[in-house]
Amino acid sequence: MITIGQDKLEASLELSQLVLNHMGAYVSVKGRDKKYIYANQKLTALFKENFDSILSLTDSELFDFSTYSDVIDSDERVLNFGDSIEKKEVSIIKLTDEKKVYLSSKKPIFNIHREIVGVLCVSTDITESHYLQKKLEIEATTDPLTGLFNRRVFFKLADQFLSESIRHNKNLSLIMIDIDLFKGINDEYGHLVGDHVIQFVAAKAKSLLRKEDIIARVGGEEYAVLLPNTHSQSAQLIAEKIRMLIDSSYITGDWSGEIQPKVSLGVSTYTEGDKEFYEIYSRSDKALYQAKSTGRNKICIYEKIHDVASNAV
Ligand code: GH3
Ligand code: MG
Ligand code: MG
Repeated sequence: MITIGQDKLEASLELSQLVLNHMGAYVSVKGRDKKYIYANQKLTALFKENFDSILSLTDSELFDFSTYSDVIDSDERVLNFGDSIEKKEVSIIKLTDEKKVYLSSKKPIFNIHREIVGVLCVSTDITESHYLQKKLEIEATTDPLTGLFNRRVFFKLADQFLSESIRHNKNLSLIMIDIDLFKGINDEYGHLVGDHVIQFVAAKAKSLLRKEDIIARVGGEEYAVLLPNTHSQSAQLIAEKIRMLIDSSYITGDWSGEIQPKVSLGVSTYTEGDKEFYEIYSRSDKALYQAKSTGRNKICIYEKIHDVASNAV
């Protein structure tokens, strides 16, 4: 607990200024009215203010609105409830419009009567490490060619959604998509154009999905679409929409003619008794195989009862 020996907060702060001005962090103290009582040199320089001018200011004059709302929320938690808070804050300074990420630690300051008289805030600029961490997270979860989730993350998320379905008896469907006769496209137009087709199909399929749906590239020219809270009939409709959209699309580029990619799709749904995601996955895969072996450019639905993939179109 930070307690000061005087009723007035201002008196105790003067002694510490020398040390605080040599710190690598931004340090401030605000009173109950949320006006600055103290800011170290690093912080006043950040706001392009001097020490005296900052004393009459509140954060509404220093930060943009969304930063200010965030800062006020945490200040009030400290001042009203005595909470100690450590959190990441994305801040935009009004004057410079500069966006930075800080790790801020806020603590209440008590007087001798154990009343909260202010809030001490120590912030460190973590902008660089924050964005580096974000970049690494994206790289670890994304397929670089399509920007979709990669296989590893897909299965991790699928396990989570299956647990949710088992626990709360929620619908969950899976569509597997595979580009038809893709080897032929590679052979005729080359690998780079093939890559372009893989990207194109990914974007078309994604364009028809909801925000909560999860689409991943799970193989060379194979995609998996996980549809939370979606029963079999809706999944079939979505699969058919994807098939129709791709069927009516064509790709042009610096090659002669148009490429008209086609896809086959296999659909299956979570059924009571499923314990592992691979059970749903292998049913969609069987349905996909059925679509391939019965003509391609079509969707097949796996019907568990008959243990066959039934042709939907
Ligand atoms: P089917 O209709 O039966 O699916 O026929 P297909 O020709 O699509 O069959 P298959 O799955 O055997 O062929 C997939 C091909 O995709 C083989 C592989 O060389 C190619 N491939 C895999 N990954 C990539 C990639 O990243 N880029 C490109 N351009 N081709 C890839
Ligand atoms: Mg294929
Ligand atoms: Mg394939």
